[in-house]
Amino acid sequence: MATFVPLLTSEQIARLPARAREVVEYRKSGLSLNHIQGCPLDCAYCIRHTYGLWDQRQPRALMTDAQVVAELVNHRYFQPDVTPVQLFNRATGPFLPAVRPHTFAVLEDLDARGLHNHVLVITRHQMKTEDAVRLNGLRNLKVTLLFTYSGIDNKKIEPYPSEVAAQSLKIMSAAVGRRYRTVLYWRPLVPGLNDSPEHLDRAYELSQRADATVFTGLFYRNEIADYYRANNLPEPYDETARRKIVPETLERRVLSTFAGSDSLFRKTSCAVSYAHGEPDYNGHYGVRELCDICPLSQLDLCLAAHRIPTPDRIHEVASTLSDASGLVVVDITEGAAVVSGLSEEQPRYYLQHALGFQVHDVRHPHHDRRHGRAEIGWKAETT
Ligand code: SF4
Repeated sequence: MATFVPLLTSEQIARLPARAREVVEYRKSGLSLNHIQGCPLDCAYCIRHTYGLWDQRQPRALMTDAQVVAELVNHRYFQPDVTPVQLFNRATGPFLPAVRPHTFAVLEDLDARGLHNHVLVITRHQMKTEDAVRLNGLRNLKVTLLFTYSGIDNKKIEPYPSEVAAQSLKIMSAAVGRRYRTVLYWRPLVPGLNDSPEHLDRAYELSQRADATVFTGLFYRNEIADYYRANNLPEPYDETARRKIVPETLERRVLSTFAGSDSLFRKTSCAVSYAHGEPDYNGHYGVRELCDICPLSQLDLCLAAHRIPTPDRIHEVASTLSDASGLVVVDITEGAAVVSGLSEEQPRYYLQHALGFQVHDVRHPHHDRRHGRAEIGWKAETT
């Protein structure tokens, strides 16, 4: 029988950190839905460190599944069939035993509304063939399962073994007649920890089972660095960053290990889009250096969808948002529209998905050849 997580009272919710109370928020890859928070898996690099929820190990709900779906579809940023949705990617594991029924309830509710949005479900937990059967009952949503796999064997950093995710990926990829897609979400790659030739070879072997693979580095934020220091964990870098860190030499070694692959991507949205036979919904095509590892058929798809918006078009799309009234279009290149005047990141992500084109904030410039990544590990002359 399915178990469910306890529902918090309004008094308990009022005591949560402000960020934790935002159950639907726009993150880079889509609207993120997090009405259940808490996880017992204890990955040292967990994003929960960054908003005061690290100590919450037991998953608990801030509202019911029906309420959160209503909040999502009525959200000012939600566009039916367009906005990518990420389910429980910030605060819990979607296939933890107590969370699993909620994951299915949300997916089935959204699907029953006839929505065709992408839904990304990131997991490292055990999955079973009956999960494949239930997911195959979804008729409309474009579901992608992303299996977080690092190969890290230091139990202090990742107590829950990566091997479970590897097995789940194999089981879910092997299911007959599946409608969902599988992605090997190879992360976090950390020099000296999980980048030996054996680690890279093992990831390559695993990637053969997935529809696509994306590799990425570590979010090494201040709160996570503090936790590493307090627990005497080996510090991977001597500075922190607001973006994920993938040093240049590590990227080169990954690409060389995957030289025979035609389904390796640097961006999650590229891997997901490719797996569904669609152009990248984050509009990365104009950032040419991202596409040098992409199969030709996918390049064609993205090229055909690539539309550079005019300033008028950007303002027209922004005019529907109350929090984008100060928007200024600073520059438009083949790769991105550079804007200013937005006080936060969420409307920028909305514009990006509405336009299918990259929208960058002038305060956070993207540099040649390391699009969207931290500067750590890249030579100064590449800027
Ligand atoms: S062609 Fe470029 S933008 Fe499109 S999926 Fe490939 S890497 Fe991403």
